[in-house]
Amino acid sequence: MPPPTNTASIPPAEATGKVPGRVIFVGAGPGDPRLLTLRAVDCLRRADVVVHDALVPLAVLDAAGTSAERIPVPRSPRGEEDPGIAIGRLLVDLARRHAVVVRLKGGDPTVFARLAEEQQPLREAGIAWEIVPGVTAALAAAAAAGVPLTSRTSASSVTLLTGHEACDKDATLDFNALARLPGTLAVYMGVEQVATWSRSLMAAGKSGDTPVTIVSRCSWPDQRTCLTTLARCGSELDRCGWTAPAIVIVGDVVGQPPPEGTAPGGALAGKTILVTRPAGQGGDLLALITAHGGAAVHLPVIEIGPPDSWEPLDRAIDEADTFDWIVFASANGVRAWCERLRHAGRDLRHLGTARIAAIGPATAREAALHGIQCDLVPGEHHSEGIVAALGAAARRGRFLLVRANRGRDVMRTGLENLGHHVTEVAAYTSHMAAPLEPDTLASLAGRVDWITITSSFIAESAARLFGDHVRTWRVASISPVTTAALTESGITPTVEAKRPTSEGIVAAIAQWESAHHDLAHPAESMESARTGGSPASDRVDSGTAARR
Ligand code: SAH
Repeated sequence: MPPPTNTASIPPAEATGKVPGRVIFVGAGPGDPRLLTLRAVDCLRRADVVVHDALVPLAVLDAAGTSAERIPVPRSPRGEEDPGIAIGRLLVDLARRHAVVVRLKGGDPTVFARLAEEQQPLREAGIAWEIVPGVTAALAAAAAAGVPLTSRTSASSVTLLTGHEACDKDATLDFNALARLPGTLAVYMGVEQVATWSRSLMAAGKSGDTPVTIVSRCSWPDQRTCLTTLARCGSELDRCGWTAPAIVIVGDVVGQPPPEGTAPGGALAGKTILVTRPAGQGGDLLALITAHGGAAVHLPVIEIGPPDSWEPLDRAIDEADTFDWIVFASANGVRAWCERLRHAGRDLRHLGTARIAAIGPATAREAALHGIQCDLVPGEHHSEGIVAALGAAARRGRFLLVRANRGRDVMRTGLENLGHHVTEVAAYTSHMAAPLEPDTLASLAGRVDWITITSSFIAESAARLFGDHVRTWRVASISPVTTAALTESGITPTVEAKRPTSEGIVAAIAQWESAHHDLAHPAESMESARTGGSPASDRVDSGTAARR
């Protein structure tokens, strides 16, 4: 019986409302969520459940909707059974209960990923699957190091091989053949057995002078690259104490840094800037930093999850048309609301005559993405601003506040004091992210120029997660409320955005950099004065120069 590998002719279970559903093997890429394919993001958004490798970073995982169940699978599950088969059985069980089961695998699902083993139980159970490719680590590593994998003159093939089975007696690797190949070798899982496989290649005739490029933790915030030779790569890995995952590229192709003077320009050129927003929500800020020439690193310090119970939000949605105003206190609230509205099989008509307010432009923009045009966005983008604006705009009435499980109480008390009836509902929860490994933090610390802080809870979490490191970085705050939270945690921001948006925060950093670049280069500063450029100063700028 041919395996049901393609679902094109099978009506999707979510359309028919019937389970069993289907399994989609999705490539997560090497780690940076921006290396996910559009198709991968689409599958994650529609997933009811995501079964993911433990290595897949949170920033990637959170492309999934908040209501999707997440199941991490250990790399080597215990038990007698082959781990791939065990995961395949889990997938069968899940597909019998859910319409869309995403099996999210690091890199590409077809490369060193036990795909055949995971497919076997699906085939036996007659469950449909499909595969969405991802950027495999070798390709991402080559791009990161600037190494071509093929060359017309020296490398007419690329071989992906595992270094792990080098000293396994059942190994099938033919080192004589590998050493003779006129091409590049990309060694996966090669760190632990580096001494063995590199020696085997040399014993089979590969020159010890063959260039080797090692890329560890490719596309992660602490990515590292090193150029060495086949003879030295073992001691090099030992010396640096590098940890997996790493790819070792062996071949005459060599990485070349870009020629001088061709580094990308822009106001943030040469600056590494941390984006701390929750996973899946850094996109616009990351893109803006990159567009200004900066190196953006997404390291979420808080995680967004479902509320303890969906019941209050579902009830509020059910009664939506009985409210005079529905007030969204954040973009996350809008997302959760719209997801549950869809989940209930409803659409925007269900809002009836309720008017919609958003606390600020980012929340209004998220609402617009879901087809909701807000009736009111206050000029002052904080809780006090919305109370003042609604106090003036609204007659006494019934208000629904859609918000997080935590935060200030200003909006509810302010509106109640104006005589309104207020119902609050927690549409999501936010928690502090898990602490970073000390090694990761240490290697990151020296590279970071700026950290962006985009909410009070992010301020509190960053202070706790990064400790004294934050004091060695420049800090950009998105708003006065966030600045107050930073100050409370003992951190003085370097700049504060004039508008509480991603554009505002990037503009504040760019202005600071331009002002201080001018100070560092007096000749250019005079030029800038002649041409009318005036370095902007920021309200909270003053304490910074002393810190660096
Ligand atoms: N399916 C994955 C490979 C899984 S095997 C893919 O297509 O990339 C695991 C090995 O992949 C690791 O030991 C390492 O060699 C490599 N790898 C995975 N992610 C990596 C990363 N971010 N940086 C460097 N190597 C990585």
